[in-house]
Amino acid sequence: MSVNLQAKFPGFDIKSQEKLANYTNTQVGGPAEWAFWPHHVQELMNVLEFAHSENLPITVLGNASNLVIGDAGLKGIVIFLSHLNKIEVTDQLIKAGAGAALIDVTQAALEANLSGIEWAAGIPGSVGGAVYMNAGAYGGESADWISSITVLTPDNEIKVYQQAELEFGYRHSLVQRTGDVILDATFQLKPGEFKSIEMLMEDFNTRRALRQPLEYPSCGSTFKRPEGYYAGRLIMDAGLQGFTIGGAQVSTKHAGFIVNVNQATADDYIGVIRHVQEVVAQKFEVQLETEVRILN
Ligand SMILES: Cc1cc2nc3c(=O)[nH]c(=O)nc-3n(C[C@H](O)[C@H](O)[C@H](O)COP(=O)(O)OP(=O)(O)OC[C@H]3O[C@@H](n4cnc5c(N)ncnc54)[C@H](O)[C@@H]3O)c2cc1C
Repeated sequence: MSVNLQAKFPGFDIKSQEKLANYTNTQVGGPAEWAFWPHHVQELMNVLEFAHSENLPITVLGNASNLVIGDAGLKGIVIFLSHLNKIEVTDQLIKAGAGAALIDVTQAALEANLSGIEWAAGIPGSVGGAVYMNAGAYGGESADWISSITVLTPDNEIKVYQQAELEFGYRHSLVQRTGDVILDATFQLKPGEFKSIEMLMEDFNTRRALRQPLEYPSCGSTFKRPEGYYAGRLIMDAGLQGFTIGGAQVSTKHAGFIVNVNQATADDYIGVIRHVQEVVAQKFEVQLETEVRILN
C-alpha cells in the first residue's frame, strides 16, 4: 500500500481492505483497497484531489445493484455516496442526492402526489446509478424525467448538465464517457393522484415479484436487449436455464437473471456470463452485450 488514506484524512469515514461482497447485490466481490463514505461534497473533493495527484484509481458505487466486482477486489479508492441522500420536493420538482435510493425518491413522489416515476418503484439502485445507467422499466426511463444533474468533473469542478446534454440512450448516459461523479439529479414530475400512483407502483412491483427471482442475490437483467430479440428468450431457447458454475446460476424463473444460489464467486458469475454469450452466439448468431458492469 503506497499511501495511507486514513492517516492523510483523519476523521473521514475511510476503511482499508473493505470486503465489497458485503455491499454488492450479487454478494460477490473482493476487497476495496480503500473504501470512503464522504459526508459532504467538500470531503469528496478533498479526497479526489489527492487521488488525482497520487494517480490512485477511483470507483464510484451506488447501491451496487448492476455490478459484478472481481474476486481480487478493486485497487485505489471505492467511493460510496450513501450519505449524499437528501431528497427535496419543491412543487413538481424532486432534487435527490446521488446516494438516495431510487425507491425512496418514488416514495417521496407518491407522498407529494407526483406522477411519472412509478416504473422505478422496484429498482434497487441509487439516483446516481439510475442516471449513469439510464435505468428504465415498464416503458419509462430516467431520461424521460430527469431535468438536470450536478456532477463533479475529473478536474474536480462542480458542473450542472441539462437533460438535453446528457446523451441518454438505452442504458446509456453521457457520464459513462466523461467519468464525472454524479452528485445529485432533479426530476421534473407531473401532478397525479395518490391512489392511482400507488396502484401503478403496486402493479409494477407485483409483476416484478411474479417474474423475477427476487429471493436470490442478483444484479438484475444481465444482458442488454439485443435489437429484434429479448435476451431472456434467447437464453431460454438455448436451453441455458439452470446452467450453473460454482454458486452462480442462470435463473430458472427468469433466464435474463444470473442468481447467486450458493456462495458464488465473481469468477463463477463471469464464467456463466461468458458461457451464455458463447452458446447464444453459436445457436442464434446474436452477440449478447452485458448490461451489468464487470469491474475487475
Ligand atoms: C432485482 C433487480 C432488479 C432490477 N431491475 C431493473 C430494472 O427494472 N431496470 C433497470 O434499468 N435496472 C434494473 N436493475 C439494475 C440496477 O438496479 C439499475 O441499473 C440501477 O440504476 C443501478 O444503480 P446502482 O446505484 O445500484 O448502481 P451501481 O450498480 O452501484 O453502479 C452502476 C454503474 O453506475 C456508476 N455509478 C453509480 N453511481 C454513480 C455516481 N454517483 N456517479 C458516477 N457513476 C456512478 C458505477 O460506477 C457503475 O459503473 C435491477 C437490479 C436488480 C438487482
